[in-house]
This record gives sequence, structure tokens and C-alpha cells, in this order.
Amino acid sequence: MMRSMRSLSRHEIVKLQDDRLRKLVKRAYESSPFYRKRFDDSKIKPEDIRSKKDLAKVPFTIKEDLRDNYPLGMLAVERSKIVRMHASSGTTGNPTVVAYTKKDIEAWAELNARCLETCGVSSNDVVQVSYGYGLFTGGLGLHYGAEYMGAKVIPASTGNTKRQIKLMKDLGTTVICCTPSYALFLAESAKEEGIDPKRHLKLKAGVFGAEPWSETTRKVLEETFVESAYDIYGMSELNGPGVAIECKAKDGLHVWEDNYIVEIIDPNTGEVLENGEKGEMVVTTINKEGMPLLRYRTRDITILNDDPCDCGMAHSRIKKILGRTDDMLKIRGICVFPSQIEEVLSSYEGVTPFYQLVVDREGPLDRLLIRVEISEDFKSDRLTDIVDLQKRLEDEIKEALSISASVELAEPKKLPRSEGKAQRVVDLRKI
Ligand SMILES: [Zn+2]
Repeated sequence: MMRSMRSLSRHEIVKLQDDRLRKLVKRAYESSPFYRKRFDDSKIKPEDIRSKKDLAKVPFTIKEDLRDNYPLGMLAVERSKIVRMHASSGTTGNPTVVAYTKKDIEAWAELNARCLETCGVSSNDVVQVSYGYGLFTGGLGLHYGAEYMGAKVIPASTGNTKRQIKLMKDLGTTVICCTPSYALFLAESAKEEGIDPKRHLKLKAGVFGAEPWSETTRKVLEETFVESAYDIYGMSELNGPGVAIECKAKDGLHVWEDNYIVEIIDPNTGEVLENGEKGEMVVTTINKEGMPLLRYRTRDITILNDDPCDCGMAHSRIKKILGRTDDMLKIRGICVFPSQIEEVLSSYEGVTPFYQLVVDREGPLDRLLIRVEISEDFKSDRLTDIVDLQKRLEDEIKEALSISASVELAEPKKLPRSEGKAQRVVDLRKI
């Protein structure tokens, strides 16, 4: 079952998508008061949506819809069929709640198993899941996926870094799943305890997600921590992790299109863009039973590509997420994502992937300060070299992103570390 879905042909995928979409639209209209009203208000009937091409007629679903219908107003099944509920942290107002039927939980586990299999994980592997367990979907999603494929799971969750490293060593962890920023911290902490991960641990694969990360971070992680680092994508509204994964070609993340229909839109106009154009990813969950979403605006910026991949899989790929529209910084009118700055920084020798962006205002003008740690090797160098590196980084940022920024080099290990998602941006303009 698992292998056959990974190896669907383009033709089979398209057919399955249209088939599942028609069934979903019909069911949403019949069983979800929310979608019935949406359809009636827009004067569309379920029969109007025959294939992916017709999707553009359907209004978008946004995060606020989930909040407005808190907690369970968007179900498309009887409440009695729900077996699990997850919720966002909800720092302001109501959290967003997502609900799963038994079938949804099984499908989600199978999707994560597919992801792990795509990274070369097999039932012989020891998978340490160091994403948070609990209301956050990261931990349990990968846990169920690893178990589904028969691998040995260590439900380490986040935190207690010393114990994480001890477990890796003593239980022979071969696959680590966590945020990329925590992976960097684990690698650094292991070294401090005299453990060289590349020599003393057996980490063949790292499954890193829940925040955007760059090619430079991949390089650092593959040099210091794991044999091969893979990007995984997901969000709670779409089940959790397991929506898309990198294959060995590492040229984009394959979206499991028998479960998800992806469109890329212009975030300002809502217009659907051509493949290859950069925009906001909109997803329709065609295989979810409890709380399916039609045209959900993820706010993640990427590019869709359905060209054949070297790995042979026909599932379309999305480019590594550039950032979330909410994370986009507007500096003197120019839009920039933290990941773009990271990409520039990481192309330089002597700086590490640890950085922080501080934005404030001087009079009417925005000011951006980029604090980045230098590497241990660079530490002993002369002051003139430091000034020179700062200047070169500032010039390069200006050249590549058309924004002026001051670069401040920090001593190694001086910037804050995170056990979950990294806090990259401090925007003092919002305070
Ligand atoms: Zn591939």
C-alpha cells in the first residue's frame, strides 16, 4: 500500500485527485454547515466542481475561519466519530483546533511513514522523535509514522538536551526528527560533551521541519551531525507533519498529491499562478474525513514544480519554504524573508547559521540590524578581518536584497539557542 502510493504515475495522481475532490466537495456540502453556507453564499453547487481546474471557483478558507468556528464548528462528521483533537498554542485569542477520525489518524500515520521511507528509513532504524509531543502535532505525527513502518521509536520529545544525546548514543539512534535549529544545538552540545556526532553517533538521516531552513544549514548539519538532512513540511490544519518531504535528489519537497491538492496564488490578489511562479501555497485536503479544508491559505511562500524528479516519483514538488507571509519583514517598503538573509549570510566562510534580526525605527525610517555569530575558527582572527567581514556582508545584503542593514558579528555561542522553533526576528516596531 505504502509503496504503491509513492509510485503513482502522473496520470493516476490526477485521476485520483479529481475523483477525491468531487467526493469531498459533495460531502463537505452535505455534512459541514460551514461549507454549505460558503457554497450557498457564493452561489456554487457541489456539481460545479468537477476537477482541480474548477477549484478556483471555491472561496478560500483562512485561519480566522477556524478561530471563528472555535472549537469544533468546522467538522464534516458527527462528533462521535472524532478520536483526537490537537490545538495551536494560540498566543492571542482562541487557539485553532483540528480534529481527526480514526481513518484520519491512520492516513496521517501512513503519510509520515511514506516520508520516512522516502528518506531511506526502514524498519531496522531507530527513530528518535525530538519534536514536541502534546497539542503540537510534530511529535505524535512522526511517532505514528515511524511505528506504522515498524521502526523502533524513541519518543524523546523536546528539551533535556543531555539526555537526548545520551539516548542517541546508548540506544543507537539512526534517525533524528526535530527542528533544524534544535539539531544545530544538539550538534553543538554533543561536541561540548566530547562526543563527535559524526564519529560517535550513527545518525544516517535527519528529518528537519516546522521552520524554514537554508541550504547552508543543511551543509552545516551534514558536516557536523547527520549523514543526510531532509526537509519535511506540514502544519496542524493539514494533519501535521507529513504533507511533503525531500527525496534523495533534494531538489524540492514532494507533496503527497493523492492527499493534498496544491495551488499557488498571488497573496495580494488571490489569483492562481502558473507552475514555476512564486506565491502563497493553498491546499485542499482531499483525503481528510473529520475536518477537511477546501483551499486553505497556508501563508507559506513557495513555488510548485511538476517536472519529473530524478528519484522517479511523480508527486509534484514544492520548493523549500521561503517563509510565511506573517514572517515577512517590510524594511523601508521592501519585503524580505529571514530565510533570504540567512541564505546570504551562509554563503560566507567564518559565520555560523545562528543569527538574529532586530528591526526598529529611527525617526520615520526602518532600521535592520543583523546579528550573526562567527565560527570558532574565525574567533582568533584580527580586528581588521572582522571589520572587513562585516562590510562585505553588508554590501552583499544590499546587493542581493536591496535593503540596507548593519551587520554585527557576535562571539560564538552568544546568541540565544532554542529547543523548539528559533526566534529569529525581534521587531521592536511592534512594541
Ligand atoms: Zn524526488
